[in-house]
Amino acid sequence: MSRYWSELVRRLEPYVPGEQPREAGLVKLNTNENPFGPSPRVLEAIRDRAGDNLRLYPPPDARQLKCVVAAYHGVSEKNVFAGNGSDEVLAHAFQAFFSGVGTIRFPDITYSFYPVYCGLYDIPFRAVPLREDFSVRPADYRGAAGIVLANPNAPTGIVLDPESVESLVRDNPDAVVIVDEAYVDFGAESAIPLVRRYPNLLVVQTLSKSRSLAGLRVGFAIGDEALVEALERVKNSFNSYPLDQLAIAGAVASFEDESYFQQTRGAVIAERESLFAALVERGFRVLPSATNFLLAEHPRVPGGDLAAGLRRRGIVVRHFGKARIENFLRITVGTADQHGRLLEALDAILPR
Ligand code: PMP
Repeated sequence: MSRYWSELVRRLEPYVPGEQPREAGLVKLNTNENPFGPSPRVLEAIRDRAGDNLRLYPPPDARQLKCVVAAYHGVSEKNVFAGNGSDEVLAHAFQAFFSGVGTIRFPDITYSFYPVYCGLYDIPFRAVPLREDFSVRPADYRGAAGIVLANPNAPTGIVLDPESVESLVRDNPDAVVIVDEAYVDFGAESAIPLVRRYPNLLVVQTLSKSRSLAGLRVGFAIGDEALVEALERVKNSFNSYPLDQLAIAGAVASFEDESYFQQTRGAVIAERESLFAALVERGFRVLPSATNFLLAEHPRVPGGDLAAGLRRRGIVVRHFGKARIENFLRITVGTADQHGRLLEALDAILPR
């Protein structure tokens, strides 16, 4: 705190990202990164781009990337917005569509950056309780001034069916509905095909998870041309060049290597299913997941104690000290080797 801080800065409650530990040899299963690494073609494209050309600014509109994303998802490039990670895309969308519109709604258990953006942009919000089983009840969102839905949801991993997603968009025509599909490639259906029919739908995706590029910082949104134009207006009032030359080159190459994408995506899904079974076998209650993480609780050992015990054994998972999920651990899907070490540690910690 300082007398130089603005009133806004005094009030902020910033997001706290998961730990990025420096020690070597840890099994890092805490921030939903992909264990398989980016496509070799992405690395080659980034290396090719790292030259004298870096003295030049990147293209401010990242048009090449927008065209590739548009072609991949069967929309026009005018329907695509690109940003520095989907966090930045989401932040711009909150400011563009929710500032000054009234009270927006999102689930009580969801991505904890949403209330932080509301604090930054002074947006009133209501956190709508998920059902007992952590599912979304679409009727609870009727009449909201804006809606944000992570689908699949995080940190629950639970997916909302496509008909319910459409009902949210259809039944709230005066509100922009942001569907955050950070984890969609691990087992859910995208809402992108609905964009053609609903001018109030904005779908946000990232290259951080299924394309294993969390370190490159690339995200995008797909929506009606007018929504994209609004995002461009905000972006161009903030930073002309959010995507650097290397990020654009790497992201484009990722969309051009479909077979690597499919192969690694399938491998993550297969590892998720085997980890799910192994945790259930050890007595955990594990929520059904369409993502690259599992939310799991043990009936007898508190989540915080388990997370601490695992950390002492070199395994890093995420524990949220938040009502309704304080007893759960969120475990990112890793490789078979990493799971072996996790399960060995759990077997040492859990009572017999
Ligand atoms: N949305 C959700 C639901 C997430 O879990 C994350 C990752 N923390 C993001 C968006 C942001 O991802 P990125 O900024 O890396 O694209």
